[in-house]
Amino acid sequence: MRVAMIGTGYVGLVSGACFADFGHHVTCVDKDAGKIAALERGEIPIYEPGLNELVHSNVKAGRLAFATDLAQPVREADAVFIAVGTPSRRGDGHADLTYVYAAAREIAAALSDRFTVVVTKSTVPVGTGDEVERIIRAARPEARTAIVSNPEFLREGAAIRDFKHPDRIVVGTTDPQARDVMAELYRPLYLNAAPLLFTDRRTAELIKYAANAFLATKITFINEVADLCEQVGADVQDVARGIGLDNRIGSKFLHAGPGYGGSCFPKDTMALIKTGQDYAAPLRIVETVAAVNDARKRGMARKVAAALGGQVRGKTIAVLGLTFKPNTDDMREAPSIGLITALQDLGAVVKAYDPVGMEQAQSVLSDVAYEHDPYSCAAEADALVIVTEWEQFRALDLPRIKQAMRMPVMVDLRNVYRPEEVVRHGFRYVGVGRPSAG
Ligand code: NAD
Repeated sequence: MRVAMIGTGYVGLVSGACFADFGHHVTCVDKDAGKIAALERGEIPIYEPGLNELVHSNVKAGRLAFATDLAQPVREADAVFIAVGTPSRRGDGHADLTYVYAAAREIAAALSDRFTVVVTKSTVPVGTGDEVERIIRAARPEARTAIVSNPEFLREGAAIRDFKHPDRIVVGTTDPQARDVMAELYRPLYLNAAPLLFTDRRTAELIKYAANAFLATKITFINEVADLCEQVGADVQDVARGIGLDNRIGSKFLHAGPGYGGSCFPKDTMALIKTGQDYAAPLRIVETVAAVNDARKRGMARKVAAALGGQVRGKTIAVLGLTFKPNTDDMREAPSIGLITALQDLGAVVKAYDPVGMEQAQSVLSDVAYEHDPYSCAAEADALVIVTEWEQFRALDLPRIKQAMRMPVMVDLRNVYRPEEVVRHGFRYVGVGRPSAG
């Protein structure tokens, strides 16, 4: 089948490359000419494990191409995917659909007389598909199209695996011809027994938000339990294990930490809250989750200050990990941003190291000294704060770190280390939801 992918970001590029790998012919389109020029030179504009090889092999096989103009790819496509950004709208936090509607207008103008399925892969509020349909029908009443919702559930850092081995594929359409096209596109996964859930468009749109809001709730729940653990002298890791072994609860998303961030959970919870308010069906649990998470992210600087006796003014803090999670270069809404700016507001000097995120970090964080490895980062620091659990931070040479630091204080916001091990090396250790030690 022929696919046009409109928007070549984290979702569009991964989805496009995976569809090409399934044997379809894909053109990834982006209006960012710099991004397309880089891809045409063979450079991958984002960091995602395995993506380089996947893109190169499919370009070489003639199944994956890039373009800045969508006209020809759309004209020839069986399916056109909209995978553009849907950030939070400034002011009210609702999803900003400007890019989606602009893409819909451009697609409408380019449609040929063949049957074309237009698929919204971007995360969009309930009813967006109806508006996309209205835009396309108004511009091209004669066009033979069906407008489908197919939300994406991949996670950055494991995006290719997630796309190729999804827990489920959700397709929202009541059009039988569109259903056949979608089934054919995903046939290789269907053969892998990935459940293909067909439903109506509005339900599909809501499934995506409900899933993200539920996961954000689970994280926030364990974070609050972690705070209680600190007060009562319990260990949140064991609480998480103890409840997670119950199949009705499950062990995933029960890791206490500095609060959720990233390009999806913060904006998607806000957008769902707004939708609930618009329809007079408020989602009070999600409203609380978002508020608790915001306060938590801001509160992490106080936790670091407390580890240093209450004061960070004039102290040097070494931050390990800047991206919102490991294995991505994505800095959107990363917990490191609030932590570092709050520490700076409190008068601290901040040094930082991240394996791949430092270039992106420089555009959102100022006055940070970027270091070239964890050890130069720790040099002369009064505290070492682990913010993102990159693999390489899990086995630090603790004697070397201690020797480099001015004060051996470790604040482990991801509970990467066992407290007794760090204390044995002469550190003071502060984790999340576990008794402080040393
Ligand atoms: P992104 O910002 O990385 O990429 C979006 C791309 O779309 C940009 O390169 C932009 O230049 C391009 N674009 C915008 N308007 C365009 C137009 N009219 N024509 C061509 N290109 C256009 O965004 P992303 O992280 O890939 O997210 C895309 C959507 O997928 C969002 O709705 C997001 O919520 C959703 N989503 C993201 C993830 C994730 O992990 N990033 C996971 C699931 C769903």
